[in-house]
Amino acid sequence: MSPDAVEKSETSIGTIIRAAGGLYEVDVLDDPEHVPRLCQIRGLFKKGRRDSTQPAVVGDLVRVQDTPSTGENARGERLKEGLIIEVMPRRTQLARDRHGKTKQITVANLHQVVIVMALREPEFNSHRLDRFLVLAESNDLEAIVCLNKVDLLKKRELKQETKPIIDLYEPLGYKVIPTSAETDDGIPEIQSLLKDKTSALLGSSGVGKSSLAGAIQPGLHLWVGDVMDIGKGRHTTTDISLHRLKFGGYIVDTPGIKTVSLLETRDVNLPQCFPEMRDLENDCRFNDCTHEHEPGCAIRTAVDEGKIAASRFDSYVKMREDQKNQRPIYEK
Ligand code: GDP
Ligand code: ZN
Repeated sequence: MSPDAVEKSETSIGTIIRAAGGLYEVDVLDDPEHVPRLCQIRGLFKKGRRDSTQPAVVGDLVRVQDTPSTGENARGERLKEGLIIEVMPRRTQLARDRHGKTKQITVANLHQVVIVMALREPEFNSHRLDRFLVLAESNDLEAIVCLNKVDLLKKRELKQETKPIIDLYEPLGYKVIPTSAETDDGIPEIQSLLKDKTSALLGSSGVGKSSLAGAIQPGLHLWVGDVMDIGKGRHTTTDISLHRLKFGGYIVDTPGIKTVSLLETRDVNLPQCFPEMRDLENDCRFNDCTHEHEPGCAIRTAVDEGKIAASRFDSYVKMREDQKNQRPIYEK
């Protein structure tokens, strides 16, 4: 065998699912058992080419070279060891400000968020949904909306209440799926949307995020925070981990986060986070139109003509207010 072939047979591709203290747990793609490898990173990456303080983060796709040893992770599990010899380019990364200057990347290659809203207990609130959607948009993430606890509604109520929500949000590009963690309604559909992607559950306390996680994959216990902290917060990035889904893909877990605020609105270009406003903006008479009071505003015209839903415009106006007052998009 040529040295080249040896090199090839010893390396594999995987995803970093946990990172702490310079050690990375990597879920190797072609390991049928999916026992994570405990990996260090080759010195080359520590200095130089990449952001030197964070050569690799949870969610990164990496190439791992097997080493013959085993080691213990932070939870006392004995794992095969390996060496990360390559970090693949990130498709996406969520970063937050660290001390105002440097950005700290919290998770790489997240595809989408699943925004969980209950129809009852707590009552559905479209304004809150709009805030979560802006959060997704401002991070360039796809968004799926679960309308959970459908089992609490009578059949007729269900249609009456879900149809207008679906009719409003689906044309904007968001999949809306009525679900129940009790009866498993909508669960197969959610599973197919999660397959082979990295997703995060997002939503207020009590809407059913943990229950849905358990319905999506029996035995999966997520410590999802009430609102996932992807913008800003007190926890450290080492708290973030990925759970592998048996059918393919990962769910982000953010243990121990109970109350957090998300993203300051300051830097967010709000109209760009509303798909129905995005392209219309160019038609406003003034370049710097805020769409609140200026004459010749294409967005307000669209609202008057019923092309933009009044509730969505209302959410925009409320969020503009927050932006002016430097309040975060979502605060518990
Ligand atoms: P989380 O705070 O978003 O993680 O919400 P939990 O999963 O802890 O659920 C909050 C409460 O709602 C619990 O009492 C659950 O049993 C209940 N719950 C969650 N999903 C459903 C559902 O689909 N139907 C009904 N009836 N109750 C649900
Ligand atoms: Zn305008």
